[in-house]
Amino acid sequence: METYQYTIHELQKKLAGQEISARELTETVFARISAVDDKVNAYLILDKNKAMDQAAAADKLLADKKGGPLCGIPLSIKDVLCTKGLRTTAGSKILENFIPPYDAAVIEKLRAAGAVIIGKVSMDEFAMGSSNENCAYGAPHNPWNLDYICGGSSGGSAASVAADECIASLGSDTGGSIRQPGSHCSVVGLKPTYGRVSRFGLLAYASSLDQIGPLTRDVTDCAIMLNVISGYDRRDSTSVDRPVPDYPAALKPGLNGMTVGIPTEYFAEGLNPEVNEAVLNGIDKLREAGAEIVEVSLPHTEYGVAAYYIIAPAEASSNLSRYDGVRFGYRSPEADSLLDMYNKTRSQGFGEEVKRRIIIGTYALSSGYYDAYYKKASQVRTLIIEDYKKVFSQCDVLVSPVSPVPAWQLGEMVDDPLSMYLSDALTIPANLAGIPAISVPCGFSSAGLPIGLQIQAGHFEEEKLLKAAFNLESALDIKGRKPDIA
Ligand code: GLN
Repeated sequence: METYQYTIHELQKKLAGQEISARELTETVFARISAVDDKVNAYLILDKNKAMDQAAAADKLLADKKGGPLCGIPLSIKDVLCTKGLRTTAGSKILENFIPPYDAAVIEKLRAAGAVIIGKVSMDEFAMGSSNENCAYGAPHNPWNLDYICGGSSGGSAASVAADECIASLGSDTGGSIRQPGSHCSVVGLKPTYGRVSRFGLLAYASSLDQIGPLTRDVTDCAIMLNVISGYDRRDSTSVDRPVPDYPAALKPGLNGMTVGIPTEYFAEGLNPEVNEAVLNGIDKLREAGAEIVEVSLPHTEYGVAAYYIIAPAEASSNLSRYDGVRFGYRSPEADSLLDMYNKTRSQGFGEEVKRRIIIGTYALSSGYYDAYYKKASQVRTLIIEDYKKVFSQCDVLVSPVSPVPAWQLGEMVDDPLSMYLSDALTIPANLAGIPAISVPCGFSSAGLPIGLQIQAGHFEEEKLLKAAFNLESALDIKGRKPDIA
């Protein structure tokens, strides 16, 4: 195995034992990026000089036995998180030259833990999409088959972990954007409870849904990363002041006493048979580990997509109004009046999907339509929350597929946004309810494309998620499998 292929917890030992230095590790990761990123296209920008400085600083701390949990670990970061002094585009032309003057809260936490930030990775523009093809700078390719999408919107994060171009990554999830690319690239992806992780410095898409979370090679790394990024931050008014448990300590073998609910509605028509089979096999493994399996019902699941595609665009139409060419970001050079400047800047700066959502969102919020759309969608959201409340009195966690289908070919759905929206049906409800959910690799299709299994739990019950995920991972022979990037 190559150095850049290890997990965080394996590297922690190697670095602490001085078997390898943070500088050597960081060099090997950059060499790996040079070798494969022209095919994978995960990175939007690299920051080698600063990364090597961070690695050198990490080596000093390691020598003094003072390193934090991520000391010397090279990470990639979704380009939606502000990194001080390092360009942050959100995958958009409108932020082509934006250099943030401050770090996002999670970036501060990563740095304090000793992490080495090697660069920013691709994403759908403003996190709107499920294939990463809505990026102004080209789409990344799935490391398991370069003709396929790697999922979205955190596609660059998932691809960079799967292609061994970093050790782990941070992404964001508004309707599935960590879990779905995790599933398509065979990496672990966790969306924490709403309020668990500060979004200060996250470029907002839909503020009542957005959460930041890790994409990692295994469940243990996921728990380590979650520990580092969680916690109260007064700069995010939705941040919840509640102690951060020791997540890695939750990873114990055996699921005796845990009840796993299987929601009927998640195994409905349209579910790919190979996905179904891989998930059912995963459920068997949970049963063998001691879990009790029960069937449950979340009757309003089918309305999730419709509610989401009102609520998210409505919030986006408001959040994205700040990109007007006045204070920062792109400004059209052709305008001859203030109004013309707004018009041209936003027409030229935003891509098709972003404009579509701003238009839908503005319409849904406009007077006369508000009750019919936004208010109705909010009521549906409440029904979905009530469904979960009932179900979590019957079981500890819910198990289902992440995506109804494995990854599709690049280009296959670009002209069919509605089909793409429908592919989010199984991940959106967790965002609407604010509950945590994880995607764990559980198999491969006959074409060799990864399949993920989703576990959801009640608010702030990440430990249950991680424990179930850990037991699944231990029972399956998938972890450590690597794509052959021809
Ligand atoms: N695919 C969904 C969308 O297009 C979810 C995106 C996300 O979670 N950021 O909005």
